[in-house]
Amino acid sequence: MQDLTRGCKFSEHMFLFWLICAMLIATSRRQVVTQVDLLNKVRILADAAKYDVSCSSSGSTRSNKAGGVGNAAAAGICHSWSADGRCISLLKILMTNICAYDCAYCINRATSDVERAMLSPEEVAEITINFYRRNYIEGLFLSSAVFRSPDETTERMIRALEILRREYRFNGYIHVKVIPGTSPALTTRLGFLADRLSVNIELPSPQSLHALAPQKSSEAILGPMGQIHDQIHESRETRLAVRGATAYVPAGQTTQLIVGATPERDHQILQLSEKLYQSFQLKRVYYSSYIPTVSHPNLPSLFTAPPLRREHRLYQADWLLRFYGFSAREILDDRHPDLSLDVDPKSDWALRHLDQFPVEINRAPYEMLLRVPGIGLRSAQRIIAARRAGTVDFDLLKKIGVVQKRARHFITCQGKFYGEASQDEQLIRAHLVADSPSGKDSGLGQISLFDLSLPVLSVVSSCAVDSGEF
Ligand code: SF4
Repeated sequence: MQDLTRGCKFSEHMFLFWLICAMLIATSRRQVVTQVDLLNKVRILADAAKYDVSCSSSGSTRSNKAGGVGNAAAAGICHSWSADGRCISLLKILMTNICAYDCAYCINRATSDVERAMLSPEEVAEITINFYRRNYIEGLFLSSAVFRSPDETTERMIRALEILRREYRFNGYIHVKVIPGTSPALTTRLGFLADRLSVNIELPSPQSLHALAPQKSSEAILGPMGQIHDQIHESRETRLAVRGATAYVPAGQTTQLIVGATPERDHQILQLSEKLYQSFQLKRVYYSSYIPTVSHPNLPSLFTAPPLRREHRLYQADWLLRFYGFSAREILDDRHPDLSLDVDPKSDWALRHLDQFPVEINRAPYEMLLRVPGIGLRSAQRIIAARRAGTVDFDLLKKIGVVQKRARHFITCQGKFYGEASQDEQLIRAHLVADSPSGKDSGLGQISLFDLSLPVLSVVSSCAVDSGEF
């Protein structure tokens, strides 16, 4: 709970305040005991869910209705991030961490000796609506371990959502994790209640999945992804034809995979992500560093540090796939199977393709500007706009938002080159590393949110604990 609540409206103090108030107004010892029991369950299950990284609420258009509460379309649903970089604007919780499966990498696996708890659908709905009304949260991220079977677990999650949507008339944002193996009929029902669904891809290859999570299969994961993709498409068409038709998964689907638990290289991971984006139009692929807490012959040693920088580089490369027109095979290939930890993926690509540089800022096409290190989407657009009004000089680039220290090695402005050497890969790489924060590119623009001093409590699990964003 301590990490889940850090730095946001859903603070631990407020949470405890609410529970204490509820206990004080309870009129019987039995009610007090019930509240304490609920507090204990929330503590266990919120803590178990904190490693889930897939929760961001953008994309939903569910607005408030007369007599209802909550509004997923409002700008108030924002992203907040805890010290470990996880999204915390939602109540992120498991229905249960009692699991029938035994995934080797997961703290909640059946053979793990951890505290177990289970919330009833009524309790999930009640906690969510009470936290929402007190403005602690903007929505709900609900996941679960596999209680007896995927279908039985999903039935319980559906019941919780039905209470929220129909009895409490809750229109706020809800992201639900789909358990691999859930029947298509239940996935359909879930999708008409939630804003976003996600099915965790778990591990980067079927072989690794078989080795570490033998009760799961690629088919059981990709099947629901395909179904959700098709139904989102159908729903959009229906809504165009039938005004007021209920939207199916309006905020789209995401997935998450664990990085560093298995031997797959970065280029395999990026090719997988690319395929998932192309096949299922996923909103995001989330990468979660494997944190060793389990001794297992197929897993890294307990003394191996979590590959946080690698995770960050994968997010940067993923950005190149989605917004910068790169393909996975351009970013990495068999000769360069892993992302550089020293420089960001775009700089690394540019250093391996110096024959394409420097580019003249006043003539380069938009697509090529996007490939220049230090030039982002917005600055590329501004350069194109500025060129319509006149010539762009080096000083203007700074005002436009270009990172000159990085870009200068790869561009000319009005024919003038501002770097030290235009074709010396080692020299340019050394400059890029030296000019990055703290004398080297730690790549921690995002990762600086991670507090490495935090105690490592558990391994991210794919469906429950570590299945995630919105
Ligand atoms: S990853 Fe999910 S299914 Fe596997 S042991 Fe953990 S909670 Fe259970």
